[in-house]
Amino acid sequence: MSFGSINKSSLLNDQDHRVVKVAALQGSRLSLSHTRKTQFKVIGSILLLLVSIFLVAQNFTGTSIGEASRSRVAVDSENGKVFTIKIIEGERAPWRNPDTGERTLYPGEACYWTRDGKAKLEPTYVFVKSYVGINEKTYCPDCGKEVRSHNPLPPDELMAEAAEAKNK
Ligand SMILES: [Zn+2]
Repeated sequence: MSFGSINKSSLLNDQDHRVVKVAALQGSRLSLSHTRKTQFKVIGSILLLLVSIFLVAQNFTGTSIGEASRSRVAVDSENGKVFTIKIIEGERAPWRNPDTGERTLYPGEACYWTRDGKAKLEPTYVFVKSYVGINEKTYCPDCGKEVRSHNPLPPDELMAEAAEAKNK
């Protein structure tokens, strides 16, 4: 590498900058005709952003900042009774059953199936045996389908059908 080649490259860079500047100026002139379209796009994305902020905020209502607890649906591993309890964020199951005082509550897995193979909007909450290390399949007491950890929802069409039926 010689001194000359360094000089050359910096000269080239200068030229590049100038070219970029000119292109930017031309670009701004061109884009004037697109301004209206761009404005609509910008307004659209701002609206979308506001809606998503609103939805996120709505998720947190009822839980003030600093109150690090949230409600959860829990099922008693012994009798299958369903509770909505407040747990401290990060507190691991089993949680205390408010009736018995025993730590027998586990996260309830939601099953949205009906016995006749349709979907329902209010799920049945099920205690999944594998949560306590029992190596056995768990079946929903309502519809008889297998219920797993992170139990999948029925297909969208069936959920939509259930929502429609409810609105009738
Ligand atoms: Zn079920």
